[in-house]
Amino acid sequence: MKAYLDCSATTPLDPRVLDAMRPFLAGAFGNPSSVHHWGQEARRAVAAARERVATLLGSRDREAVIFTSGGTEADNLAVKGIAGARGDRGRHLVTTAVEHHAILESCASLEPLGFTTTYVPVDADGSLDPEAVREALRPDTILVSVMHANNETGVLHPIGEIGALCRARGIAFHADAVQTVGKIPLDAEALAVDLLSLSAHKFHGPKGVGALYVRPGVRLQPQIHGGGQQRALRPGTENVAGIVGLGAAAALAAEGMGAEAGRIGALRDRLVAGLRAALPAVEVNGQGAPRLPHIANVSFPGTDTEAVLLGLDLEGIAASGGAACSAGSLEPSHVLRAMGLSADRVASAVRFSLGRLTDEVEVEYALAVIPSVVEQVREAAALPLLGRG
Ligand code: PLP
Repeated sequence: MKAYLDCSATTPLDPRVLDAMRPFLAGAFGNPSSVHHWGQEARRAVAAARERVATLLGSRDREAVIFTSGGTEADNLAVKGIAGARGDRGRHLVTTAVEHHAILESCASLEPLGFTTTYVPVDADGSLDPEAVREALRPDTILVSVMHANNETGVLHPIGEIGALCRARGIAFHADAVQTVGKIPLDAEALAVDLLSLSAHKFHGPKGVGALYVRPGVRLQPQIHGGGQQRALRPGTENVAGIVGLGAAAALAAEGMGAEAGRIGALRDRLVAGLRAALPAVEVNGQGAPRLPHIANVSFPGTDTEAVLLGLDLEGIAASGGAACSAGSLEPSHVLRAMGLSADRVASAVRFSLGRLTDEVEVEYALAVIPSVVEQVREAAALPLLGRG
């Protein structure tokens, strides 16, 4: 028996997405920029995918969608692209302490160019107060970047309110929506975002493809240079099969999103309730804040994240210790630390994240196994202390 509960790290490719991609990995190999019919076929497929992604984002203008190699590139293009286009107006950026490293490192990379960044803190539940964002704004602020939902805790941020306050001041507003696109309904126009990042592999599409929504009229400096593809904002021959896969994943996500979010939320709640019943010391991180339905970040005090993850893996259960990209580094989570949680709570946090393919059988299996793995790790952790006594 297995239970894959790491859908915020990545999701399995939906077989229907693979079917949609297959022709473009074989016979339909044209370059979308070519004039002949092979090129036209590829061009039409890219345009159709752009339309599907725009529809998922509630955008009336499909040209607002710029395909990238994923969420990381979309985040880099947003931050550095605005810095390049508006750096003459000011060199101050505002973001949060709990962003993905793609944002934090993009901001840091601009420091040698004279940019400074204010990192707005969150409270103990991971909630961000829009008032704190407003207070961080300065006359030289050119960009605010706030993630729609945190990838470690699932905590949602009030990006509609933040978008409105940025728009009123003419400050560019970017939302990293990598964890929310395809999971909960989202309307980029209603949210007043200028830029929004998404990634296909988080919602059953292929890896290595994503997009940046760029509101019509918002100017960005390209970060790579080449032919004039995608309005020269992101040149290079398009990853046609990947883009088709992203489009198919977007269309599938749009189909039953509301009902699906309800189903997954109920499974997540069942998982948390079962863990609490079996292990009374369990702490749910971000519990008091509005959260995505598919993520539960829980701490098992007295244990250590890595030991629990390894124990779970031996039982066929996949979970993670926060962001997958930092999982190998054993660094304590910058997100949980920014929430001010105790060292024990940070060091013993495990993220369980569910997806469209997660079912009740997997959740029940996880509940049958997790408590004993946690108890074993807790007992092993306590042993050296006993020896010392
Ligand atoms: N932003 C957030 C919030 C994420 O969770 C991730 C992936 O974990 C990324 C950005 C990076 O996306 P990608 O893996 O497509 O580069």
